Amino acid sequence: MLPGLLMSNPAPITLEQLFRFNRGMPHQLAAIAELEQDILTAGYSVAMRRDRPWFKTWSQSGQFKPDSPFDFRITPNIVYGEFALYQEVRRFDQQHQCDTALKLAQFLERVRMTFGNNAVVITSGYRPPAINRQAGGASSSEHLYSGTGVGAVDFYVEKTDIYEVQKFCDRIWPYSVGYGAPKGFVHLGIRQGQPRVRWDY
Ligand SMILES: [Zn+2]
Repeated sequence: MLPGLLMSNPAPITLEQLFRFNRGMPHQLAAIAELEQDILTAGYSVAMRRDRPWFKTWSQSGQFKPDSPFDFRITPNIVYGEFALYQEVRRFDQQHQCDTALKLAQFLERVRMTFGNNAVVITSGYRPPAINRQAGGASSSEHLYSGTGVGAVDFYVEKTDIYEVQKFCDRIWPYSVGYGAPKGFVHLGIRQGQPRVRWDY
């Protein structure tokens, strides 16, 4: 946390401070985008106050960790809660799981940009072993995030043909793609050794 930017300080933030503390981190880029919108709608002097929503985004602490809050920005448009479906029982408990989620989220940002900045909706991220067994999932599922460099998300893109999204992932993503388009999603995964893998459901 940066002492000069604490929310308890009532003074409005200055552009000079924003420039000085900007490290180009995902949450900072997201906060600046929110600030730009806020300036357009509320005006500069209101928008620069520390009690505005964008400042909460700006003030999140650095690294993505298992115990980060669900509103933690992994990348500018994707928060931790989406990987856990906002359920405490689906929290990551290992750092390597967060690292893999970051890699997946970075690709999802690329997908989002490719398809007109429409929102990416994650329908399944991390499934802890107990939940995976309950759901009858495979014991080797990438959704278990069971080791370094293993993880997956199922997702779709709002207002976008899922078959086009699947085609894009198939062409660009060098790891796992499950062809879930007939069921309305794409499975995007990584596994140990990181070979290119494709399958149908
Ligand atoms: Zn999946």
